[in-house]
Amino acid sequence: MLSTAFFPTAVPPRPNGRYAHIILLRETDSYALFQTDGELNTARVHAGVARDELLTRITMFKRKQTTPERLIGRELLRRYGLVSGEQAPEKGGKTDERGVAIDTAGLPICDYNVEFCKQCPDCISYGFAIGDAGSEKSKVYSDTAYSLSAFDASHEAFTLNAPYEGGTMSRKGEVTSRINEQDHVRPQTLFPAVITVRDLTAPLFLYVLNNVLRTRRYGAQTTRTGTMTNHILGIALADGEIFSNLHFTQRLYDHLAARAALDPAQPIAVDVALQAARELIPTLLQEDQVAVTQYLAGDELAGFLADFGGRTRDEGGMRELLQAAARDSATYHAAYIQKKGKK
Ligand SMILES: [Zn+2]
Repeated sequence: MLSTAFFPTAVPPRPNGRYAHIILLRETDSYALFQTDGELNTARVHAGVARDELLTRITMFKRKQTTPERLIGRELLRRYGLVSGEQAPEKGGKTDERGVAIDTAGLPICDYNVEFCKQCPDCISYGFAIGDAGSEKSKVYSDTAYSLSAFDASHEAFTLNAPYEGGTMSRKGEVTSRINEQDHVRPQTLFPAVITVRDLTAPLFLYVLNNVLRTRRYGAQTTRTGTMTNHILGIALADGEIFSNLHFTQRLYDHLAARAALDPAQPIAVDVALQAARELIPTLLQEDQVAVTQYLAGDELAGFLADFGGRTRDEGGMRELLQAAARDSATYHAAYIQKKGKK
């Protein structure tokens, strides 16, 4: 089981050296688009650490990973009545005794990137910035992820048609310009990744973990492409930061190459990569200069995730989990964010 005693009982005001790392492989289940300005993001890096030839990899920027996960959590907070579904009013509006904007039902209004409520599990875990009205640093760290396989074997260019309502591609005699060719990430492309959660309480850590387990849609916000599965490989509780996504990717590449499980022209078999990553992570953790309190993996991790899934698949269990997270975030707000004198 996960050692909940490791987590602080309240989120501390200053860094306290409690790092919970979620180590995972992200796998595309369909054609995904991770792009800015119409092109897939790529990086030219060394293939491995031992194998130092250069390789062009698809990159998945930090925000492409965390934003969908945040939004899933926020959806749940609204679904279970912990924050309002309303937008922040232009001006006026009611506030509660803490100075938090509320709707007519008395629920806090948390308007993403417009007016953060500064007290919900999302605001406290992932942070916010509201111009000069205050900011809170994110306690969930992530970094650019790199495809395990080369760009050439991991993408496909195809045309996206956007027909008119009648199903035709022309209107009033003019052919739509809504046809364009785009590079898509192939299904079953793997992105090794580490998500680091710093100094959050156990309920807030579970809130973040649940978001990672539930989020399916990444990349360009279309409804038909971009689904992914996050395979959790381990949870490491430590007193510092561990290996980077790029190092993890390169060492996994080396490990697969050493087992002759790599053909640069072919996609990498998912089960082979998962197994190789499970073998490799304990070695990587040992090479890091951190004290690991617990590394939860294998059958123990499977048991923990099954138990956690049992809770979150039940409305009552889900509500309890969110309420516990909301209590901890509200406590932090009252202690360190709420303006004095507004009590
Ligand atoms: Zn909020």
